[in-house]
Amino acid sequence: MKVYIDDDSCRGHGVCAAVCPDIFTLTQHGYAEAVETEVPRALHDRVAEAVHACPEQAVHTKESTCL
Ligand code: SF4
Repeated sequence: MKVYIDDDSCRGHGVCAAVCPDIFTLTQHGYAEAVETEVPRALHDRVAEAVHACPEQAVHTKESTCL
């Protein structure tokens, strides 16, 4: 699973970083960034929770494809 933040939608609520600090952090400008875009399997549920918890629907995931 890969995760990314839609910078145009993020409003810096910080919910994602609170739910899953191993993946999300807030920049000095107060907006979220994903410190890891490839999500370890052990954190999939947490990231899914962040997707649902983000008030702006700014957190997106897509399944990694095997080449
Ligand atoms: S919860 Fe959503 S709006 Fe808030 S910082 Fe995270 S991505 Fe941005």
